Amino acid sequence: MDIVDQATRSRIMGRIRGKDTKPELAVRRIAHRLGYRYRLHRAGLPGRPDLVFPGRRKVVFVHGCYWHRHPGCRYAYSPKSNIDFWTQKFENNLRRDLAALTQLRDSGWDPLIIWECECANDEFVAAKLTAHLGGR
Ligand SMILES: [Zn+2]
Repeated sequence: MDIVDQATRSRIMGRIRGKDTKPELAVRRIAHRLGYRYRLHRAGLPGRPDLVFPGRRKVVFVHGCYWHRHPGCRYAYSPKSNIDFWTQKFENNLRRDLAALTQLRDSGWDPLIIWECECANDEFVAAKLTAHLGGR
């Protein structure tokens, strides 16, 4: 038995398919409420950021804590079985994330990561978005 339960597995697969996730929807709702206008998953940008603010040259990723290994987060627990498989997968994810951030910065985009676990707190997300995006 794998330690990843059915819900987690569906969430992970959801991310792979690029389906909208609940945390992502929360961030969009908050950005909208704050008056920021954005585009979604703009093709051609490294890592396909979840929210894109073209005029500001800012992008936001909403990252799942498990899949993207949120440092120190309880949701980024280590699997107890299939360890080699998961270790390899996580390494690939982290390498891909890092490459995307580097490419974005190199081409003048300013990326922000909002973690899934942070999305439980609307005010925290609002503060993070405002700090990243600046005045309206
Ligand atoms: Zn987290």
